[in-house]
Amino acid sequence: MRILVIEDEPKVGRAVREGLQAEGYEVELTATGEDGFFRASSQPFDLIVLDVMLPGRDGIEVLAALRKGGLRIPVLLLTAKDAIEDRVSGLDSGADDYLVKPFAFAELSARIRALLRRGKAEPVVSLQVDTLEMDVVTHTVTRAGQRIELTAREYELLEFLARNKDRVVSREMLAREVWRESARATPLDNVIDVHIARLRRKVDDPFDRKLLHTVRGVGFTLREASS
Ligand code: CA
Repeated sequence: MRILVIEDEPKVGRAVREGLQAEGYEVELTATGEDGFFRASSQPFDLIVLDVMLPGRDGIEVLAALRKGGLRIPVLLLTAKDAIEDRVSGLDSGADDYLVKPFAFAELSARIRALLRRGKAEPVVSLQVDTLEMDVVTHTVTRAGQRIELTAREYELLEFLARNKDRVVSREMLAREVWRESARATPLDNVIDVHIARLRRKVDDPFDRKLLHTVRGVGFTLREASS
């Protein structure tokens, strides 16, 4: 289980990190909302502990932006004593729970366990085709456990193919759904073919089993390798 702790007070941050690590969690600690937002958007975590009072972008803003971006993992807010408006706006912005500072570590730990148990009922947010796995929240792509780095467009293209796995998608569908161009716009066939070729190099070439197939005259399909 990976937990991201966003807390600018070094003593509190370190104490939380050490306590959680002692309980077997993998912990990343960061002191700013900007960096916290970046990490939460780009890496997979199971839970976030988020201080409200942060320099620059505060915890409520970070939380609202993460939820807007589709992040669904539990978020536990750390709020200042008596700052009731923080708790209200925090819960409005999508926090799952909050803890008032100063708090006992045992209390934090109990709340985290409860949130992680609850989190197991969350809807599936990953797509799988054969050994290819895509996390649609963090946009992390792996094949057979190996990380695959994709550009934003390549990711979108692969996600569209994965959502339509075993179906043939035409270049027109890709132009409309991935490039968001109407059929009347300049033909994108060439651009699409270049992106498909790049995807194939990254997703299929290093592996024996091929998933991405060209259906001549029609389009493309992503499907489990037949054995
Ligand atoms: Ca603070």
